Amino acid sequence: MAFETVSAAAPPAPLARAEAAPATAPLVDPFGRAITYLRVSVTDRCDLRCVYCMSEHMTFLPKADILSLEELDRLCTAFVARGTRKLRITGGEPLVRRGIMTLFRSLSRHIDTGALEELTVTTNGSQLARYAGELADCGVRRINVSLDTLDPVKFREITRWGDIDQVKAGIAAAQRAGIRVKINAVALKGVNEDELGDLLAWAHGDGMDLTIIEVMPLGDIGENRLDQYLPLSMVRAKLAERFTLTETDYRTGGPARYVRVAETGGRLGFITPLTHNFCESCNRVRLTCTGTLFMCLGQEDAADLRAALRAAPDDALLHAALDEAIGRKPKGHDFVIDRRTKRPAVARHMSVTGG
Ligand code: SAM
Ligand code: SF4
Repeated sequence: MAFETVSAAAPPAPLARAEAAPATAPLVDPFGRAITYLRVSVTDRCDLRCVYCMSEHMTFLPKADILSLEELDRLCTAFVARGTRKLRITGGEPLVRRGIMTLFRSLSRHIDTGALEELTVTTNGSQLARYAGELADCGVRRINVSLDTLDPVKFREITRWGDIDQVKAGIAAAQRAGIRVKINAVALKGVNEDELGDLLAWAHGDGMDLTIIEVMPLGDIGENRLDQYLPLSMVRAKLAERFTLTETDYRTGGPARYVRVAETGGRLGFITPLTHNFCESCNRVRLTCTGTLFMCLGQEDAADLRAALRAAPDDALLHAALDEAIGRKPKGHDFVIDRRTKRPAVARHMSVTGG
């Protein structure tokens, strides 16, 4: 299997730092939404094959198309100069990209200066035991770990290749390193729907928030989405039979809506892109590992920042490309999963755009 790893012992080599970006205006889209949150997919590769995310036999991008870590740093730095306050590193599985700690180390300078409020990561947890300490060192204070079940056999079925003990060890290592962990679970009809209450009790019992995500129609995965789709209204109704759920106005700058769970004292989030439209407060854009910027997770329109990045050593063209791209950010998406819609609403996989 061809995914990238880095030796645990090797200290990250310093990146050639991006030139100081010009002090330019904050990025605000035509609907008045300030763009303050960038999600960056640093690789489309992964060491797992979750059934809702990838097909078993994926064709990954040629390595030559992927931005170098220096280029990713330069792009992120340009966004930070334009008002990005929160940076989430994702993928594919971000922690399987070779040398990824070099990027975290380099980006942490924006935390040190206060330009960036939060540097964070979404991970499947498989490599976390190895990297938790370094992530904490780089100023990472909170992470999301994706885990859909506590049942080792089911975990293997969902991820096709995963080992739940590795993930649990990773979570424990992160917690020991002082990183707050939030668990993300995708609700899957007939797979984990009866287990979400137990997952909630486990996560909250261990001081972790839980967010349940509705499955989204992204990418051809070789299965019918209707077989997986479980509306979160049903999940919530079922959880309410066991737990007392109280609405809160807590927000993390993302699309999740949170409730407080009286029995555990913890927080439970719901991300329902299909049944609840959250576009009006969207402050985010997504960058792929090839330098393509998606202004909306649910639309095809994109901007090629790699060309602007590589055209000149200074960032003038890049900033012009950012202005042009944000000027095209659409008002909202139009996902749909129904019996007439056989194709995915958006052809690219979540692992390309970054979850
Ligand atoms: N590999 C990392 C992980 O699994 O956390 C980061 C990338 S993954 C694409 C980010 C998140 O997207 C995960 O929580 C995953 O469960 C979720 N995801 C992937 N495909 C999805 C889909 N079709 N619908 C909803 N969530 C999805
Ligand atoms: Fe990999 Fe994350 Fe997609 Fe699962 S959800 S296949 S761990 S990228």
